[in-house]
Amino acid sequence: MTDNLFETFAQRMGAQADKDFIVTPDGRRYSYTDALALSARLAGALKDLDVKPGDRVAVQVDKSPEAIILYLACLRMGGVYLPLNTGYTTAEVGYFLGDAEPALFVCRPAAFAEARSIADETNCPNVETLGTGGDGSLMDLARVAHPFESVEARDKDDLAAILYTSGTTGRSKGAMLTHGNLGSNAQSLTEAWRFTADDRLIHALPIFHTHGLFVACNVVLMSGASLYFLPKFDLDAVIEAMPEGTSMMGVPTFYTRLLQDDRLNKDLTLNMRLFTSGSAPLTADTHKAFEERTGHAILERYGMTETNMNTSNPYDGARIAGTVGKPLPGVEIRITDAETHEPVADGDIGMLEVRGPNVFKGYWRMPEKTKEELLDDGFFVTGDLAQLDENGYVQIVGRDKDLVISGGFNVYPKEVEQVIDEMDAVDESAVIGVPHPDFGEGVTAVVVLKSGAKTTEAEVLAALKDRLAKYKQPKRVFFVDSLPRNTMGKVQKNQLRETYKTIYDNA
Ligand code: ATP
Ligand code: MG
Repeated sequence: MTDNLFETFAQRMGAQADKDFIVTPDGRRYSYTDALALSARLAGALKDLDVKPGDRVAVQVDKSPEAIILYLACLRMGGVYLPLNTGYTTAEVGYFLGDAEPALFVCRPAAFAEARSIADETNCPNVETLGTGGDGSLMDLARVAHPFESVEARDKDDLAAILYTSGTTGRSKGAMLTHGNLGSNAQSLTEAWRFTADDRLIHALPIFHTHGLFVACNVVLMSGASLYFLPKFDLDAVIEAMPEGTSMMGVPTFYTRLLQDDRLNKDLTLNMRLFTSGSAPLTADTHKAFEERTGHAILERYGMTETNMNTSNPYDGARIAGTVGKPLPGVEIRITDAETHEPVADGDIGMLEVRGPNVFKGYWRMPEKTKEELLDDGFFVTGDLAQLDENGYVQIVGRDKDLVISGGFNVYPKEVEQVIDEMDAVDESAVIGVPHPDFGEGVTAVVVLKSGAKTTEAEVLAALKDRLAKYKQPKRVFFVDSLPRNTMGKVQKNQLRETYKTIYDNA
């Protein structure tokens, strides 16, 4: 017996035999038996390419069942899976290959020539496409490789994956995740969310983030459930899949998009037992509207690349809108003063810190950063500000780096955004701090209006006057068609701060 996570998966997979593991809307299907067999052949191909246990395998490919089975193959032979965002440019890929020094880079067919030249520059010895076979790809090598039927021995502290953070607050960092990290989280989510072999998870997330890869796929593998694999979130495809599904994991924008469609109703979601949301805050309005339309209270949870999932609203019991629930079993949290790491008074806002078997091993080749954020007592400094409500549920207030300090006062953007969003004309808003000669930072609102609605900067400012203390009131309001978001629906406040950075220069 080894602590290799693949060993646990293989036991569950073996028990499911011919059942669907992954099916796609265009009729492609891998049973659990197929997936186990292909994982052995792909593991054999990796060995033939001289990938050794502990070596990184960088992967930038489109979403496909084969990509998930490649992840399994990598675990199986002791490699370290390192998925890259498909949106990364050549220059960005060059940076990540240089940083990670993988033994193999698996790329998209169209990007092969470019990938080869980046690999040469970064001393990466092997480049392959993944493909589906018959195209000179890794799948062809797998066909002729001697299958690796066993499982490479790994300790629970050995690396299973390196996952780069989303880069919302700065350059992405490589989070080193162990077999123990991934296994414990998959186990606790499976139990907390009651996943069983009868589940069919509608999967419309990308597979290069923790959410779509580890939360979704590991839970399915742990429980022997099935994945209904959509290439991306497509409203029609998700609605079509709903009667056949039992569960969906989504980001808030999935739910706001679904709510714009008249087909979303109780009948459509009759067979669904669970909708979860994470990666970005779900508004109380969306939570309420979804529950009214479908009868399902979305279960919001909170996590990050470095820790997988930390907290979740309960499966049974109140799912409280605007909160991310309570710590998962085995996870400890504390809310502290960011300087001293001493707990703040009950109910106060502070830095959220997390400890548990889910917490990563550190940042790849960033010992200083690791030391700053992974404290000696094992708590990880998340960078998120939070408070506990009267029921002990965690409320995420926002990121520490998004906090605005204006005239020496702390302004929490979320509080101001909530007040702005209550205006009839407003669809959504983002509040940021921008350099200001008198106040240090000037509170600044960037607002998206509802379609057809009209209002002016003066009207917004007037509406906020009696509702917010003076130091919290925005000094300027800008209107835009949409907020900049990444694929997971996270608002890119760095970009907004850059756009508006000089507006108070002559104030
Ligand atoms: P970087 O660390 O590179 O700046 P990132 O923090 O956006 O990027 P991820 O690890 O993908 O990278 O995202 C984790 C963050 O997402 C959390 O720290 C938190 O700010 C946010 N988040 C996740 N789930 C929720 C949620 N339910 N509500 C509010 N915020 C959430
Ligand atoms: Mg982060």
